Amino acid sequence: MEPFRRDIRSVRGIGEKRAQALNKLGVFSLFDLISYFPRRYEDRSSIRPIALVQDGEAVCITAVIADEPRLSRIRRGLDLVRVRAFDDSAEVTVTWFNQSYVKNQLRSGQSYRFYGKMEVKGTRRSLTNPVFEPEDLPTGRMSVTGRIVPVYRMVSGLQQSAIRQSIRQGLDSCLGSLPELLPPAVREEYGLADAGQAYEDIHFPPDPHALDQARKRFVFEELFLLSCALGSRQKTGQKGIVVPKPDFSLFYDTLPFSPTAAQRRAIEEAASDLASGSRMSRLLQGDVGSGKTLVAAALVWQCFRAGYAAAFMAPTEILAEQHYRTLSAFLSPLGLKVGLLTGSTRAKEKRQLHEALELGTLDLIIGTHALLSDSLHFHRLALTITDEQHRFGVEQRSRFGGGDDASDPSASALPPHVYVMSATPIPRTLALIIYGDLALSALDELPPGRQAVDTFSVGSAYHARLLAFIRKLCGEGRQVFVVCPKVEDEEDPDAAADGSLSGKKLLSAVEYAQQLRLELPELRIGCVHGKMKAADKDLVMQQMIAGEIDVLVSTTVIEVGVDIPNAALMLVENADRFGLSQLHQLRGRVGRGQHKSYCVLVTDSESEEAKARMKIMCETGDGFKIAEEDLRLRGPGDFFGSRQHGLPEMHVADLGTDTETLMKSKEAADRLLALDPTLSLPEHAALRERVLLLTEKMDGTLN
Ligand code: ADP
Ligand code: MG
Repeated sequence: MEPFRRDIRSVRGIGEKRAQALNKLGVFSLFDLISYFPRRYEDRSSIRPIALVQDGEAVCITAVIADEPRLSRIRRGLDLVRVRAFDDSAEVTVTWFNQSYVKNQLRSGQSYRFYGKMEVKGTRRSLTNPVFEPEDLPTGRMSVTGRIVPVYRMVSGLQQSAIRQSIRQGLDSCLGSLPELLPPAVREEYGLADAGQAYEDIHFPPDPHALDQARKRFVFEELFLLSCALGSRQKTGQKGIVVPKPDFSLFYDTLPFSPTAAQRRAIEEAASDLASGSRMSRLLQGDVGSGKTLVAAALVWQCFRAGYAAAFMAPTEILAEQHYRTLSAFLSPLGLKVGLLTGSTRAKEKRQLHEALELGTLDLIIGTHALLSDSLHFHRLALTITDEQHRFGVEQRSRFGGGDDASDPSASALPPHVYVMSATPIPRTLALIIYGDLALSALDELPPGRQAVDTFSVGSAYHARLLAFIRKLCGEGRQVFVVCPKVEDEEDPDAAADGSLSGKKLLSAVEYAQQLRLELPELRIGCVHGKMKAADKDLVMQQMIAGEIDVLVSTTVIEVGVDIPNAALMLVENADRFGLSQLHQLRGRVGRGQHKSYCVLVTDSESEEAKARMKIMCETGDGFKIAEEDLRLRGPGDFFGSRQHGLPEMHVADLGTDTETLMKSKEAADRLLALDPTLSLPEHAALRERVLLLTEKMDGTLN
């Protein structure tokens, strides 16, 4: 691996200036360089007759230059070269802006291949700023016409051609000597291209088939590495604390409502695990509002009955406090002692909690990741529950799961059972790779009497009518959420390209709240956003919970779990900026009480995808269906990606759709790890190095 760590400055053709531009793209070493894969490809392999090209099509044509190219200066800083060209079918006018050197590269009467976007107006055809090559030049690996051409993500100061060239040089300097990460047997079994071929073809594929093969190999490699990295942490078939199953009807009888059949089933499933003698590792999936908290309460009660304690971790202080209130309401009447530990718990109280935990006088501790503190010693801890687990990093989760922690001599020798709850549907295969041998329970039923949230999609021209609606609802004593998308500090170049930022400026939550205060002076308007201190955010949220705020304007900080039954309207501005699943989560903040509730999605986006998303939101309230649609609409992307689950960013693989490869690569990784658990055999050296690198990266996702 060592030679590939060498600085890109050692690659021929890469000077200081280009190196700095590449550094901005995260490319430092030769290895980074050849691993900088194209973001897309342009298929310029087929040549089209000019007459058959439609308006707006990007195509390759072969045409003869009809006259001398003319250079004209429009004004200072703007000149153009224009020339007419033709093939057997039609003529086209070709124009280049500010590329005066083109004039001397073209010869009248000579034939060239052009690639560019054709504009057709009546019988007039034009090409602007096309790339071109003489037709008699054979298409080689670096040709930009007549073949599949890679397109890379760019950065200012670096042209496509410069990136291509650098990568070409990089590949040429190492192709013969690339280390092969995949054991030959694995490559053979799954029919995967070797490393050298794959690196060549992912950048400069001679044809679509070669590109497919290269991609297939890298998807496999990426998932194989991930499986190795995660697999080496997973301990399966562990013994677990035996927590006998109680008669839950005693618990159900104390509730203000009857649990749904789905809740009873989920409780039974986990309760059996707890009693089984093997360590439980189970995921509970349930849509927002499906009543996951009650399931958690039942399991805590089971532990309590057997003389054990449980710990419950939530991703934010607000949620921890909310769970504290809800779970106390369920459990205190049954004699359980419940504690709350967050970042803002006072020192004295914290000390008392620590003591109580150690003495075993606390039956349930609820908290944020403050619960991960090393100084915390649990007595007879049998169960850890994590809510909205995707918010935590992999490492945090595994630490909370405990098991490696031998620091507490009084702790029972067995690690606690692990229960995670999520409103984000995760495909079975992905769950498998994240959690190992994970069992799954689903709450596929909402509590009875829940009214569907009426959802509408409107344009910003409806603003005045929406104000009237807010006034009416608040006049009836209801509360309202308004969500504005986060305004990025740095504009995302992709977002700018799709036009969604053009025209109207997005209002930040702060600006929006100010505007609302002027428009609705009689209402109490609050505002929370990501840049506020946690304590300030909490203060505003508490006011909202206490009903001291009528309208809360926020960025997506209220996305998860907050329960305010009095809220009857969720108004989402620039709704096209949110993913479907996110919109669904937001909508789940209302319709939690007995009041008729509404969700209004405001968007002026004309894009087909945005329209399709709004339509789905208006048509269905089923979170799993929405998640599926989300995946389908967005295609390969980040839906199940990395960040949500604390996994490293995937470059080629898609955790949502590459499920088959995921299974295969996991299988292969498991088999390899069974033979060489620490990857210390010499033939696994390159693999080991990459796995370690990945592990470091994942641990870096902490916080
Ligand atoms: P989740 O965390 O799954 O989004 P919660 O646990 O917060 O959902 O429950 C949502 C609301 O439904 C809470 O107010 C809760 O008290 C209520 N609830 C839960 N189970 C039932 C049930 N079986 N019948 C009626 N209401 C229920
Ligand atoms: Mg919840």
